[in-house]
Amino acid sequence: MLFTLNDDHRQIQELIRRVAREKIAARANDIDRTGEYPQDMFDLLKSLGLFTLPFPKEYGGTGSILSACVAAEELSRVCYNTCYVMIAQWGPFGAILHGGNETQKKKYLSGLATGELRASIGVTEPQSGSDVAGIRTRARRVAGGFKLNGSKIWCTNSPVADFVVVAAKLGDDNSRRAINLFIVEKDMPGYSVGPKEDKMGARGLPSCPVYFDDVFVPETNLLGEEGRGFKATMEGFNMIRPVMGARAVGLAQGAIDHAIEFLKNRYTFGTRVSDNQGIRWMLADMTMQTEAARLMVYRAAAMVDGGTTGEEQASYAAMAKGYATDVAMKVTTDAVQLFGATGISNDAPINRYMRDAKVTQIIEGTNQIQRNIIGNYLLGRPRRMVPAPE
Ligand SMILES: Cc1cc2nc3c(=O)[nH]c(=O)nc-3n(C[C@H](O)[C@H](O)[C@H](O)COP(=O)(O)OP(=O)(O)OC[C@H]3O[C@@H](n4cnc5c(N)ncnc54)[C@H](O)[C@@H]3O)c2cc1C
Repeated sequence: MLFTLNDDHRQIQELIRRVAREKIAARANDIDRTGEYPQDMFDLLKSLGLFTLPFPKEYGGTGSILSACVAAEELSRVCYNTCYVMIAQWGPFGAILHGGNETQKKKYLSGLATGELRASIGVTEPQSGSDVAGIRTRARRVAGGFKLNGSKIWCTNSPVADFVVVAAKLGDDNSRRAINLFIVEKDMPGYSVGPKEDKMGARGLPSCPVYFDDVFVPETNLLGEEGRGFKATMEGFNMIRPVMGARAVGLAQGAIDHAIEFLKNRYTFGTRVSDNQGIRWMLADMTMQTEAARLMVYRAAAMVDGGTTGEEQASYAAMAKGYATDVAMKVTTDAVQLFGATGISNDAPINRYMRDAKVTQIIEGTNQIQRNIIGNYLLGRPRRMVPAPE
C-alpha cells in the first residue's frame, strides 16, 4: 500500500508549520497553565478551514484521514490543546457518518466542518468506560420521540458544544444491542453540564459530567436506525483512531525538537551536553521510535482513505494508536530526563508534553483495549467459561 504524502498533504503541513510558529507556539504554555478554553485558537483553525479535512467532499471536506493526521501531528508538535480543539470537531464525525441518515449528515457534518457547530460525545459513565456495553443511561419511547435519563462523565468540549452525541440504552433491554445514539442539543430542557475536571494534561479543553433529566429528544434526533448505535460508535472510533495516533507522534516530535534546542545550549564538564555520545544515542532512539510510529499512523490513515473497513482497519488503527501513544509517553519522559531539573519545572514546555502524552494512552480506548482489538483480530474473541482440556 502506498502512503507517501502528496502535494496536498505537504501544503497542509507547511501551512500549519508556519502558523504554528507565528501564532500558536506563544500561546501553548499559557493555555496549559490557565486551563481555559482557547477560543482564539478555535477561531484561528476555523478561519484556516482546517476543521474540514477528514469530512467527505459532499459535506464540505477533503475526505482525507491522512490529511487530518498530518494536520494533527503539526499542531500537537507545538500545542496539544490547539490540536485537541481541532480533533474535538471530529469526535462524533465517524458515528454520524456511519450511523446517521442523510438529513442528519447534511446538518451536523456540514456544521462541524465549517465550525458553525461544535460537538461533544457522551459515552463514558462512572461505572463504565472501556466497557461501553455497561452504560446505564436510558431512553424510553414517548409520543414523537424519546425521554432520556442518566448521566455521563468526561464529556470533553461539552461546555462549548452545540450538541452532544449520547449513547443510551433503549427500552428495558440491557444488552449492547439496546445501545442507540441520540443527538441532544444544548438548549433541550433537562440537559445540563457539570463542573470541569482538573486534569494533569489536555487542560485546555473542558471535560465535564453531563446530566439528562427527562430530556425529550425528538424522533429525528435518533442517530440512524434503531439498534445500530453500538456498531456506529465503534466504527466511528475506528475510522478516526489514526488521528489519535498522529497527535501522539506530534507530541513525541515536539519533545525531540525542544530537547535538541536545550541540549545544544547546555554545558556541563566543559562541553555541550549534546556532544556526549550517550545523549546522542538517546536522541537517535527517540527519533527512530517516533519515525516508526509516524509510518504506522500514515499507513492506518491511508487504509481508511483507500476504503479498508471492518476488523482489518480496526486492527491497524489500534496498532497505530497504541504504538504511537506508547512512543509519545516514552519519548516525552526521556525528553524530561534530558532537561534535568528544568524538565520538572512547570515553566518548561517539555513538562506539558509528558503530561499530555499520558492522556493519549487513556483516551479513545485505553492502550490495553487497543491490544484487545489487535489480539481479537489475530485470534478471534476469547470464549468465556471454556473448561481446560483433561
Ligand atoms: C482527557 C480525557 C477526555 C475524555 N473525553 C471523553 C469524551 O469526550 N467522551 C467520553 O465518552 N469519554 C471520554 N473520556 C473517557 C475515556 O474514554 C475513558 O476514560 C476510557 O475509555 C477508559 O475508561 P475508564 O477510565 O472508565 O477506565 P476503565 O474502563 O475502568 O479501565 C481501568 C483500567 O483497566 C483496564 N482495562 C479495562 N478493561 C480491560 C480489559 N478487558 N482488558 C485489559 N485491561 C482492561 C483499562 O485499560 C484501564 O487501565 C475521556 C477521558 C479523558 C482522560
